Amino acid sequence: KLHNTILELKGNIRVFCRVRPLLPDDGISTEGKVITYPTSTEILGRGIDVGQNGQKHSFTFDQVFMPDATQDDVFVEISQLVQSALDGYKVCIFAYGQTGSGKTYTMMGRPGHPEQKGLIPHSLEQIFQTRQALKAQGWRYEMQVSMLEIYNETIRDLLSTNRSSSTDNGVAGKQYAIKHDGNGNTHVSDLTILDVRSAKEVSFLLDQAEQSRSVGKTQMNEQSSRSHFVFTLRIFGINESTEQQVQGVLNLIDLAGSERLSKSGSTGDRLKETQAINKSLSSLSDVIFALAKKEDHIPFRNSKLTYLLQPCLGGDSKTLMFVNISPDPSSVGESLCSLRFAARVN
Ligand code: ADP
Ligand code: MG
Repeated sequence: KLHNTILELKGNIRVFCRVRPLLPDDGISTEGKVITYPTSTEILGRGIDVGQNGQKHSFTFDQVFMPDATQDDVFVEISQLVQSALDGYKVCIFAYGQTGSGKTYTMMGRPGHPEQKGLIPHSLEQIFQTRQALKAQGWRYEMQVSMLEIYNETIRDLLSTNRSSSTDNGVAGKQYAIKHDGNGNTHVSDLTILDVRSAKEVSFLLDQAEQSRSVGKTQMNEQSSRSHFVFTLRIFGINESTEQQVQGVLNLIDLAGSERLSKSGSTGDRLKETQAINKSLSSLSDVIFALAKKEDHIPFRNSKLTYLLQPCLGGDSKTLMFVNISPDPSSVGESLCSLRFAARVN
């Protein structure tokens, strides 16, 4: 059955799809493209078609970035959302997709290629520039960052300086209990939170966090694709002339790889990881779509990720999900899974 899944998410939730270019390692097929774009002017830039076994599956999102879209093309579309954190909004931007689909490229960029910087460094540059520009209007801002990863439903502090590589909890004995206060603020006990004054400073901390992710692990790539990376910037603004105050939060999240991992084939640690990833990704989708449908009960507590981000997902906060897709014909099954995940309200 050919069906057209039109995503009609109401409120403050948007979904962008990004298809990365074919890479030399993809084993380019001569069979022709599995991913095409509808030519209808109505959905130009919003539609994507995926061919599988002679069938065409069509999807529509708030925006679709084709493989030739540059990092700057993408940033143009999100810069206002990022900016709204300075106005006191709580913002979450996620990257969802199978391993190798371009999540980290979208969020961080390409190592050693500053001209291809991703939306985390780009957002920070913009925020610090705007902070400077708003000084003339009396605004003074303080910024704090934290960076953590969620691995097997356990939080690990990526900015802690006294990590123990021998435990699976990051730092021995620390619990990282999540608490929300009545004002919509989240506290994670023992989590390192640092004051930052420049984009450069944050960039240094991002490098440090990247190092921490691999401590004690044999395969860094493996590890990072199986945990969620959560970057949080808290913004406190006060206007010296009007005494107006704002508190915004920007959460930028590089999710664990969404590839279906067969439970039957996995054992031990692998099975535990697989279950944790499946649980948190499905909880995330449950929460986002319960919010979109304005349901009474939003199941935030079903995973660490959704519980941590609870105040930034509901209310008048703003959420954007990138669905990253590989154009490689051998990934077509996973691509369809990712697109269906994103287009779940059908
Ligand atoms: P993921 O984080 O989803 O596992 P990556 O972001 O690491 O995937 O991307 C896999 C590879 O593809 C990397 O080598 C990355 O640099 C490259 N890549 C991803 N997206 C793009 C893009 N839009 N343009 C160029 N290269 C890309
Ligand atoms: Mg990655």
